[in-house]
Amino acid sequence: MITVLRIGHRPERDKRITTHVALVSRAFGADKIIVDRQDDKLTRTVNNVTRKFGGDFEIEFGGYREQIKKFKGTKVHLTMYGIPLEKRINELRKAEDIMVIVGSEKVPREVYELADFNIAVRNQPHSEVSALSIFLDRLGRKKDLRGELRIIPEERGKRVLRIPGRDECLALLDKYGADERLKRHSIMCSRVALKMGEGCDADRRLLEAGALLHDIGRTVTHSIFHGVEGYKILKREGMDEIIARFCSTHVGAGLLKSTARKLKLPDQDYIPRTLEEKIVCNSDTLLKGDRVVVIDEIAEDYRQKGLASEVPRLKSLYSRLERRCKFRIEDLMKLNEQQQF
Ligand code: SAM
Repeated sequence: MITVLRIGHRPERDKRITTHVALVSRAFGADKIIVDRQDDKLTRTVNNVTRKFGGDFEIEFGGYREQIKKFKGTKVHLTMYGIPLEKRINELRKAEDIMVIVGSEKVPREVYELADFNIAVRNQPHSEVSALSIFLDRLGRKKDLRGELRIIPEERGKRVLRIPGRDECLALLDKYGADERLKRHSIMCSRVALKMGEGCDADRRLLEAGALLHDIGRTVTHSIFHGVEGYKILKREGMDEIIARFCSTHVGAGLLKSTARKLKLPDQDYIPRTLEEKIVCNSDTLLKGDRVVVIDEIAEDYRQKGLASEVPRLKSLYSRLERRCKFRIEDLMKLNEQQQF
């Protein structure tokens, strides 16, 4: 757990700089910032970024002396007068709970005494924003910050992925007239996918949205074209390609271009590529309606429908995910007993 304590905040003068201290704290792995003077505007800005971009970052207010005294972990004051970071970083990496203290103008003398470490990020005057970001970066703690908005890195330009939440996905199913059966299947698919994704750091919000929406095309047709129809619906709704592809890539264990041609689908392959696409595809495969069944039962169904050629790929996707995500079919089948719709 990392707490940043920002001392000497003057709401009228340090608006931008304290906001930057808070944003750096969140982005570089801290869990909380405590600011020594109440500032509601700052709270709104920080909470807004956290709500959109994710994580469970908190902002609190409190006097520095009391906060430092009551903190039980390792207290690190960043100051240009301190011991160079390189000399202490290995020791600091071992600490579980750290409070990182940064100042603004003049830092009171007692802070140097109350801190366990006075650390310099180079013994030159610069800024609390740079000192904090370099310190947190070197500390190297990672936090899951995957929220509603994701930045998709691009060589040039800006791409931001917005992932709809559960309620928005369910509302979309309603909007397109999904019946109870389809909704139950979609909800169960999301539960299976989330369970399966636990062991392999899959993106939970993306998994949930993908699983809830993968079959939206069934509101148009139940034929093999439902994947393509779902893709079209989601694109029309302004969803990113990343979300829409859950519809086109979940059919079978993903269709090869040659199979798609035979089925007269638009000429391309429909293979799940990302971890989340694979998990949603595999979760859907394991479901008969809203019940999880074993893969051999599904394989047998495929054979009986004359789709024996698809079975090896179906099983291969299953076993690759079983190894990668370390899921156990018994745990997935337990979800049948805890039906929550
Ligand atoms: N002159 C002030 C003082 O009494 O320490 C510092 C002013 S400085 C603009 C604001 C904050 O930036 C400091 O309180 C410290 O936390 C941080 N800071 C600036 N340079 C630093 C450095 N070389 N290493 C670590 N922290 C630094």
